[in-house]
Amino acid sequence: MSQTHTTSTLVLGAGYAGLTCAALLAHEGHEVTLLESHETLGGCASFFRIGECTFDVGATTVSGVVDTQPAGRVFGHLGLQPEFIKQDPGMLIRMPEFDVVRYADQQQWTAEAERLFPGGRQAAFWQDLYAMERRVWSLVQGLTHFPPTSMSDVLRLVTPAAIAGIPLAPGLVRPMDVLMEKHGVHRNAAFRRFINEQLLISTQNTSDKAPYLTAAMGLTYPSETYYPVGGMYRPALQLMRHATARGATVKFRRRVSEITREAGGWKVTCSNAEVYHAKRVVSSIPIWNMARITQQQVRSYFERMASRFDHAWCAITVYLTLRGVPNLPSRYVQMHLDRDIPYVHSGSLFLTVSHPDDRYKAPEGVTTITVSTHALADDWRGLSAEEHDRRRDLVRTAMVEAIRRSMHEFEGMDIERVDVGTPYTWQRYTQRHDGFVGGIPHDVRRPLPLLPPNKTPFEGLNMIGDSVFPGQGMPAVMLGAWNTVARIFAS
Ligand SMILES: Cc1cc2nc3c(=O)[nH]c(=O)nc-3n(C[C@H](O)[C@H](O)[C@H](O)COP(=O)(O)OP(=O)(O)OC[C@H]3O[C@@H](n4cnc5c(N)ncnc54)[C@H](O)[C@@H]3O)c2cc1C
Repeated sequence: MSQTHTTSTLVLGAGYAGLTCAALLAHEGHEVTLLESHETLGGCASFFRIGECTFDVGATTVSGVVDTQPAGRVFGHLGLQPEFIKQDPGMLIRMPEFDVVRYADQQQWTAEAERLFPGGRQAAFWQDLYAMERRVWSLVQGLTHFPPTSMSDVLRLVTPAAIAGIPLAPGLVRPMDVLMEKHGVHRNAAFRRFINEQLLISTQNTSDKAPYLTAAMGLTYPSETYYPVGGMYRPALQLMRHATARGATVKFRRRVSEITREAGGWKVTCSNAEVYHAKRVVSSIPIWNMARITQQQVRSYFERMASRFDHAWCAITVYLTLRGVPNLPSRYVQMHLDRDIPYVHSGSLFLTVSHPDDRYKAPEGVTTITVSTHALADDWRGLSAEEHDRRRDLVRTAMVEAIRRSMHEFEGMDIERVDVGTPYTWQRYTQRHDGFVGGIPHDVRRPLPLLPPNKTPFEGLNMIGDSVFPGQGMPAVMLGAWNTVARIFAS
């Protein structure tokens, strides 16, 4: 069998970014080959099976699926209809003092916020956030060439819609604290804790650093949160099937070890010695990894990007099987911790509880739960196997005990198996350097438009995925892929 292949466009990585890109290109009749290092699809939104149970590995909540939003636009354009269950309430937040129910409806949620967090102008605060969120969604639809990388990109941005969006710009460089102070809601300590834990799971930052514009997107998303039946990988599977049905080739167990420029395009080598020649490469491999598999000026470019954006979170994930079906108002629970857990750098755990009718995830009477929280690479780098396992076991025990203490809904139900993913596990399965997941934290010191752009300075090399613009999360990486494909067809 030949070890050398030629294709028009090579897409690297079968997470949401790569699959969206491959599906959109193939939809237009473009010749595309996708290479993925793992044995299956999904990346940070992948899955694993044990017996009759299926677990989401990391990402679990779907958002941005309304027609005018990035994921909805992609699915609509391709004619795909993934099975989603809208969550209302979008989330249950268990705080030490009380439960916060994130009703989907803006009015109902605002009334709940006013009741639980007295002081300040809660209604005006949330009205501001929802108004900003609506404006951002309508604005991003048309900005395929943002951030601009050339004069012609700049000229494309001179549209009435983009000009109307200019007043939103301060929200990219001013932190959420400013907006909280403006409305006097910052004095309530419980509210500040509530906001910070919500921001950590959406913008990957806290209110002193998260820009208020993206914070608005993160804080309002529970109004449009959807549970994907079967798991996050199932919509991704539809994208992949759409691509392959239109001629795309998808190859698993192909870890890209080198990307070099050659006359008329790019040469991509895999660790199994296969070589691919392509006119164009669209890579969802994170910038930190790209710095290690590219050469010369391309390497220098990614090294510069990687040193500019040298911090990202890691994750600790725990996978549980519960013998029983707990009664919960939402599939998503953010559980504030009542005491610190070693190596956990957040004040909460995020629990995704399988839907009682979701037979893809668990047999009747059984529930699967994915739990995730924030960790730091420094705690896990360069450990001996014994020390890694010691820390992993410590975290596992503390997390399960915290869940038992807080989640009275699980009382009387046996927790039957517990698996753990550490930053080391994440690195192993997704290849991501240092186990960095969840993208680059949103930060006023590095505003969103300064993230690495989708178009690199190198002809025929585009970047997508959560380490480049517009950042992390399923809707954002789908938007990045959409914009990149639009740029390819416009060039
Ligand atoms: C614990 C956790 C919870 C999250 N929760 C949510 C959520 O609820 N909702 C949400 O929207 N987002 C969530 N996110 C964020 C979201 O999962 C990611 O931002 C998004 O899935 C990233 O997609 P991607 O395609 O950019 O990258 P990835 O999913 O990482 O995909 C990249 C792919 O490239 C492959 N790859 C890497 N290197 C190579 C190589 N050298 N050769 C070939 N292939 C390679 C990897 O194996 C991987 O499959 C969560 C993330 C984590 C970690």
